[in-house]
Amino acid sequence: MDTTEIYKQLGVSPSVLAFGEEIRSGLHDRFTAFDKVAEHNQMKVLLAMQKNRVSEECFQSSTGYGYNDHGRETLEKVYADTFHTEACLVRPQIACGTHALAIALFGNLRPGDEILSPVGKPYDTLEEVIGIRPSRGSLKEYGVTYRQAELLPDGSFDYPAIREAITEKTKLIEIQRSRGYLTRPSFTVERIGELIAFIKSVKKDVICMVDNCYGEFVEEYEPSDVGADMIVGSLIKNPGGGLAPIGGYIAGTRECIENAAARMTCPGLGAEVGASLGVNRSFYQGFFLAPMITKGALKGAVFAAKALSRLGFPVTPDAAEPRTDIIQAVTLKSPECLSAFCRGIQHAAPVDSYVDPEPWDMPGYDSQVIMAAGAFIQGSSIELSADGPLREPYNVYFQGGLTFEHAYFGILKALTLMEHEGHIRL
Ligand SMILES: *Cc1c(COP(=O)(O)O)cnc(C)c1O
Repeated sequence: MDTTEIYKQLGVSPSVLAFGEEIRSGLHDRFTAFDKVAEHNQMKVLLAMQKNRVSEECFQSSTGYGYNDHGRETLEKVYADTFHTEACLVRPQIACGTHALAIALFGNLRPGDEILSPVGKPYDTLEEVIGIRPSRGSLKEYGVTYRQAELLPDGSFDYPAIREAITEKTKLIEIQRSRGYLTRPSFTVERIGELIAFIKSVKKDVICMVDNCYGEFVEEYEPSDVGADMIVGSLIKNPGGGLAPIGGYIAGTRECIENAAARMTCPGLGAEVGASLGVNRSFYQGFFLAPMITKGALKGAVFAAKALSRLGFPVTPDAAEPRTDIIQAVTLKSPECLSAFCRGIQHAAPVDSYVDPEPWDMPGYDSQVIMAAGAFIQGSSIELSADGPLREPYNVYFQGGLTFEHAYFGILKALTLMEHEGHIRL
C-alpha cells in the first residue's frame, strides 16, 4: 500500500491531497529556516544539560515533602541556564499556564501595587486572576489594581500612552508574547526587547513579566535574553515537548522566583518542598525534545496559513511573516465552517478520532468555545489541536502537532470536510 492509498483510507480527498502537496512544495525555504532555529535551540538545551551534569539519578522520584529532590533541583537549573535566568521553578504542582502566571503575579505583588499591560487585553483566563472580570480571590480583592494601554491600530506599541500609564504605583508590567484568542499580532522577542527597554527607561525598577506561552523555542532567543525579569509558561505547550503530563515554569531573577516560590507553596517553605512524583524523566526528556517538537508545530502552522489563505480565508500571521509562537489564527467566517474545521482536526487525531467536538462553556472563558483535541495528554496544545470561541468573526486558533506529518494530515482532513460541506472548492 503506498502513501496515497493510506491517505485515501484515512479519508483525505484526492483533490485536497493534490492541493496539499502543491502548497507544501512551495514551503521548502521556510522549513529550512525553522530547521536552523531548532538546531540552535537543541544545542542550547544540550549545553545546559551537560553543564548541570544531568545523570540517571536525576530521574529518581520523590514523595511526601520532596526535600532534596536532586532531579527537580537540577532540572530547574537546566531551565534557568537554557533561558539565561538566575533561577527557575519547574513543577508538577503548577496545574497549568494560568496557574503559573497567577503564582508569578500573586507572589510579586502587594496591596497598593498596580499591574500594567502595555499590549491591550491579556489572555482570557487572566481576566479573572487580575479581577478585570470580578472573580473570587482575584488580585483586585487583595487591593492590586490594573491598567492597560491599547495597541495602536497597526498593532504597534503606543509609547506615549504607555509612558502615561506608568505611575508610582506601577510594580509589574505584563507582556503577552502570543496573540491568544485575539487577532492582534504576536510580538517577536526583538519587539518585546524594545518595549522592555522603553519601560525600564521610564521606570527602572518595574518588574517586566512575559507570558511566554506558545513562544518557547520558536526563535533563537527568549524574552529573558532581552531584559524580561520573569518568563512564564505551561509544560503542556512547547517546553514540555509533548511528554510532560502536567506542569508549568517560571524563570527569572532570583528575587522574582523566590517571591513566586513563597506563593507556589507557602511563605517559609518556598521552593524547598514539592515532590516530583515520578515526572522528572518526562520533564527532562520533553525539554530535550521541545526544540524539535516546536519546529514540527511551526511547519504545520505555516502550511495551514498558506493553504487556507490560498482558499480565501484571512490568516494571521501570513505564511511569509516571521514567527514568534506556534499559533495560527484563521478567520473561518461562519460557525458551520468553524465546526467543519474543528471536526476535521479531531478526526485526524491518534486518540478519540471517532468523536465530534461540541461547543461548551469552558471555565475562565466568556463565550462558548469549540475545541478539537485528540491528545495523549488532556488539553495539551503542543499536540495537534484547534479551538475557537463561538463569536464573530469565527476565528479558529490552530496549534501543535507533535510531528509536522501529523499537523499536515490534520489540515488535509479539515480541508476535506470543508470541501465536502461546501465551504471551499478545489
Ligand atoms: C495557554 C495560554 C495561557 C495559559 O493557559 P492554560 O490553559 O491555563 O495553560 C496563558 N496565556 C497564553 C497566551 C496562552 O496561550
